[in-house]
Amino acid sequence: MKYTLDTIPVLDSYKTGCECPLCQLRVHCEDQYVDSMLGAAYMEPDCRVKTNEIGFCTRHFELMYNRRNRLGLALMTHTHMQEVIKSLEGVLANPGSSKHGLFGMRGKQTGDSVPQKIRARMEGCVICEQIDNSIKRYAYTIAQLYFTNSEFKKLFDQSKGFCLPHLALVMEFADETLSGKQADEFKKALAELEMQNLKRIEGELEWFTLKFDYRNADKPWGNSQDAVERSINKLMGACVGEEAQMPAHND
Ligand SMILES: [Zn+2]
Ligand SMILES: [Zn+2]
Repeated sequence: MKYTLDTIPVLDSYKTGCECPLCQLRVHCEDQYVDSMLGAAYMEPDCRVKTNEIGFCTRHFELMYNRRNRLGLALMTHTHMQEVIKSLEGVLANPGSSKHGLFGMRGKQTGDSVPQKIRARMEGCVICEQIDNSIKRYAYTIAQLYFTNSEFKKLFDQSKGFCLPHLALVMEFADETLSGKQADEFKKALAELEMQNLKRIEGELEWFTLKFDYRNADKPWGNSQDAVERSINKLMGACVGEEAQMPAHND
């Protein structure tokens, strides 16, 4: 897949000094895609074909459910459900007919048992796909800008690294899209930056736990008040606390 640079959002995200610029961009994209799915996007024929076919994961059904447009959600769910019913008709017509494989494995290795087919039918999510594509474009942009944009390089060198899932992604993009020498230089700088910041957060989390000791009760919190949230998010990608919070909506 060919990616294009998307410089401005990346620079803006770095300027906030957050723990993971890609997590911040992810939350922003997710908010926009959930909104547009219930607004303009699902009226477009191409998008409807996709949402009917692929549907959504539980997280994105939940996020759409929490917005106000119940009719939009009902229409989308209805036509998706019609597609699901159509494709399961054959599968469920004869649920007892799966072949007994060797040792009575009932087609376990081949992926063609009825339970496997049901699960496979419900895999995938249109919004996850959109987010994935955007984050890959941003990861590509980060790897490219490091060698082509001095403003970015400065911001990168002063940044707090990434969450670990996004660290892995950016390293992959460096390997795939930079020359061998540049990829090595970039990954070395990135690895040093990441290790410094992992240790910093680990220290902040430790101080959080030590604050529960009565002897430390009067000592200042420093940066540790939200260290639990930031530690979890650094390890797993933004999922708790302020960093995972989407903007308030009153739609
Ligand atoms: Zn992240
Ligand atoms: Zn999803």
